[in-house]
Amino acid sequence: MLGGISWQSIADDDGVNMGFRTSVRDIADRKRMEQQIRNYNENMEQLVQERTARLMELEERQAKVERLAALGQLAAGVAHEINNPLAGLRNAIELVRDSLPAGFADADLLGMVQSEIDRIGGIVRQLYQLHRPQPVSDRCVDLTNVTLQTIQLLSAACRRHRVTIQVQGNERQPVLARLPDGELKQVLYNILLNAVQASPEGGQIDVMIAARDREVVIGVTDHGMGIPADILRKIFDPFFTTKHGTLETGMGLGLSVSQSLVQALGGHIEVHSVVGRRTTFTVTLPRGWVASDGAISLPESACDAGNGKGEL
Ligand code: ADP
Repeated sequence: MLGGISWQSIADDDGVNMGFRTSVRDIADRKRMEQQIRNYNENMEQLVQERTARLMELEERQAKVERLAALGQLAAGVAHEINNPLAGLRNAIELVRDSLPAGFADADLLGMVQSEIDRIGGIVRQLYQLHRPQPVSDRCVDLTNVTLQTIQLLSAACRRHRVTIQVQGNERQPVLARLPDGELKQVLYNILLNAVQASPEGGQIDVMIAARDREVVIGVTDHGMGIPADILRKIFDPFFTTKHGTLETGMGLGLSVSQSLVQALGGHIEVHSVVGRRTTFTVTLPRGWVASDGAISLPESACDAGNGKGEL
């Protein structure tokens, strides 16, 4: 029993003190309730703190999404403005080139101008894609095939860095999905190129491709320098790059473009990095792409069955 004692003095009619009246009560219930109220208040405070932190995080994320969308829109607008005169330049140079007399001494210079125009064209295309493009096709593709083709595109870079790319598991096993292969190739190319550039000489990059019920997952792990936390926060920002003054200068667009493309397809990219040891980029996509009304067009049974060729 938890006791509570109270007393009152007793006086006679003349006001002479006659002693005290005491009473003893069991106050365990009251103490329990007080403790419950204290606990409840503490929980409430913790809950409010957690909710406030979550709200701030969501607001921050929303502000970032809006900032990136505005930046993407701006970039796409600039790209549009650059694209038109660029097309004119490309045509003009071709006409000049065609009209040159055979053996013209400075023909090489024109070739150089042409290839630089193509390079600007490539950058402009990337800028365009920052603005959440809608996928243009939804053919049934084999991700294993698409991955192998992309690895092929990187063979020169792999040779230069003395790096190998290994697809884990059964290379011939088709993983079919209804996704646009052009976009897929570009995303994989950007992630794999970063992995090649981050790898030590003689390093191996592991690629994992898997299909779940409604999703496909592609993981790329390099055993390079990893990404410190302060950099990790920024790697998807347009124009963020740490490749200044290195052999491989970067524009800082590869990951932001990849993220735009993957999000437009209804998927997401996750990064897990252990500094000094390895980095894994995981791309998760629905097996069908998301239409403008938000519906996911899942692969038909024919697509699921797989014929090993990747296209139906
Ligand atoms: P860029 O390659 O032109 O720098 P990206 O948007 O592709 O642009 O990448 C942004 C930055 O993310 C890189 O500059 C690099 O710091 C970091 N990064 C991306 N992938 C990796 C990786 N696999 N290992 C280490 N750092 C990486």
